[in-house]
Amino acid sequence: MSDTPRNVIVIGSGPAGYTAALYTARASLEPLVLEGSVTAGGALMNTTEVENFPGFRDGIMGPALMDEMRAQAERFGAELVADDVVEVDLSGDVKVVRTATETYTARSVILATGSGYRKLGLPREEELSGRGVSWCATCDGFFFRDQAIAVVGGGDSAIEEATFLTRFGTKVYLIHRRDELRASKIMQERAFADPKLEIVWNAEVAEINGDDRLESVTLRDTVTGDTRPLEVTGLFIAIGHDPRSELLPGQVDLDENGYVLVDHPSTKTNLPGVFACGDLVDHHYRQAITAAGTGCAAALDAERFVAALD
Ligand code: FAD
Repeated sequence: MSDTPRNVIVIGSGPAGYTAALYTARASLEPLVLEGSVTAGGALMNTTEVENFPGFRDGIMGPALMDEMRAQAERFGAELVADDVVEVDLSGDVKVVRTATETYTARSVILATGSGYRKLGLPREEELSGRGVSWCATCDGFFFRDQAIAVVGGGDSAIEEATFLTRFGTKVYLIHRRDELRASKIMQERAFADPKLEIVWNAEVAEINGDDRLESVTLRDTVTGDTRPLEVTGLFIAIGHDPRSELLPGQVDLDENGYVLVDHPSTKTNLPGVFACGDLVDHHYRQAITAAGTGCAAALDAERFVAALD
């Protein structure tokens, strides 16, 4: 452990973390970025084409976009370490951040560990991610013009995704395990009124089928156990998402779902010198560009905080 605390440590390496790293590096704060080991680069490493990140008129592959962000942060002096943070102590003036083998200290910390979409846990789900299987209608709906699409879920966000997808699909099936929806009444009315949306009650996805791309799913009736194929080329999984805030209980204030609470419109948490950004905070927009935007804000907040200490 070095005796002199760094100016800033960024935890996380998605669009929020790398943008925070870029800005703090260009402000000469020499940030250390703890990127995570297996998942360095964040959620976009698991997708194919990203068509809605401004600046790429022909789109860009998710991993290529993240490589560019990483290289851009590195170019200005960010130190990048592909390791997982296992423990933090953020309460004092000197923040302590531990990996399995190292202890780092800093005057400020930017939390950017993102959130994870819940998965069905089925074979082929990972392999066909970005090849028909998706967790984000805003991101990927456009790819499914004039195709048949299935959405899994029964809450407000599943209905929102399904109704949004009717703009593109020839038909949208909402697959729901029970015989009634959890979603609010107004969302249900919207779903029932949509001629392109068909709710498949008492059904769950038992299998995801396709070699290179999704070709169909196998549905299982949750009452009778009978199975049947459903030909769809898009499958949107809308069963929720969880913030990666497992390091943080007892440290910074979280909401009832575990998202970090910040003093909007800033990225300040309840602890001085600790800032949070990206999907770890935002369960509403959850886009690469919004994560990058709040990563920038966190860097500017950290920069001002550190400047005031000097
Ligand atoms: P993430 O990208 O989730 O990054 C979080 C980072 O934190 C990861 O690198 C992880 O390794 C790291 N981390 C977590 N815990 C630790 C720890 N303990 N120690 C160290 N590091 C840690 N958005 C779009 O705008 N357009 C799209 O086309 C699009 N497509 C998508 C496709 C898929 C399949 C998915 C899953 C998401 C997609 N999104 C898209 C959403 C977008 O990826 C997210 O909104 C965005 O990545 C959030 O950025 P973030 O930096 O907050 O978090």
